[in-house]
Amino acid sequence: MNIIVCVKQVPDTEKVKLNPETNTLIRDGVENIMNPYDAQALETALILKDATGANVKVVSMGPEQAKDVLKDAIALGADEAVLLSDRVFAGSDTLATSIALANAIKAAGEYDLILCGKQAIDGDTAQVGPEIAELLGIPQVTCAMKVAFEDGKFLVERENESTAQTLAVAGPVLVTVTRAEKEPRFASIKGKMKARKTEIPVLTGADVAVDEKTVGLAGSPTKVVKVFTPQVAKIESEIINEEDADKAVDMLVEKLVGAQIITR
Ligand SMILES: Cc1cc2nc3c(=O)[nH]c(=O)nc-3n(C[C@H](O)[C@H](O)[C@H](O)COP(=O)(O)OP(=O)(O)OC[C@H]3O[C@@H](n4cnc5c(N)ncnc54)[C@H](O)[C@@H]3O)c2cc1C
Repeated sequence: MNIIVCVKQVPDTEKVKLNPETNTLIRDGVENIMNPYDAQALETALILKDATGANVKVVSMGPEQAKDVLKDAIALGADEAVLLSDRVFAGSDTLATSIALANAIKAAGEYDLILCGKQAIDGDTAQVGPEIAELLGIPQVTCAMKVAFEDGKFLVERENESTAQTLAVAGPVLVTVTRAEKEPRFASIKGKMKARKTEIPVLTGADVAVDEKTVGLAGSPTKVVKVFTPQVAKIESEIINEEDADKAVDMLVEKLVGAQIITR
């Protein structure tokens, strides 16, 4: 079984601040991490690897420094990793990002399962996984909490606010992961040593046969019109300190009438 995991390097958003003058992210000195949902997707892949002996390949698109998260993935137990990095991808929106990643996945050869995080904690769109599935013409299951392989099919457990479902899907299929069945594992010393020695191959747009017109700023149908920090309006508030509910309601009604919000 061949599993591909899409992993994005993101700034640790808990530490990111916004420059109030320019309304851009202050990235200086901010640590980059593996997108937390992608760590859950990777753990899901590694659980399947433990059960079936699957080969796990990790793919990322980003600048040279994104090799760090790929090395982290190798240290945790991924077998291979590849970085997609090229100036032609600069300014890509979610569709252009998905086109680049779908081409990289096609170039990687046969696959049975593609795992993505539910969403990236910086972009937060949750669009890239479903778009990749659409571009590759394969089924998708979103928001998974567990993926198992039984009788030639992937059994995917997913949950939303009111229901839980278990779906049986034949591969190849793309699954986006909310959380893994278990807490993500820690890297072993052996894994860390393997990661240190691993050279991460870097592929360009030409290497994965991307049509340059479909990626980068020019190929992106989404344009950012404005970025700003919303002003939080200051609202005067008052608490009615009255334990008797009937009296509290009467007092509230008096105040609303006095403020001419309601009439008697
Ligand atoms: C007009 C426009 C211009 C932009 N320009 C830039 C730019 O110049 N530089 C820049 O860094 N960003 C840029 N972005 C942001 C970039 O488009 C998004 O970061 C990217 O499309 C992923 O979207 P997301 O973060 O919402 O991911 P989501 O859709 O929330 O991610 C879902 C999952 O998809 C996978 N995934 C997402 N992105 C990657 C990736 N890069 N590699 C591997 N797996 C991935 C992960 O598994 C992730 O959990 C731009 C966005 C717009 C709209």
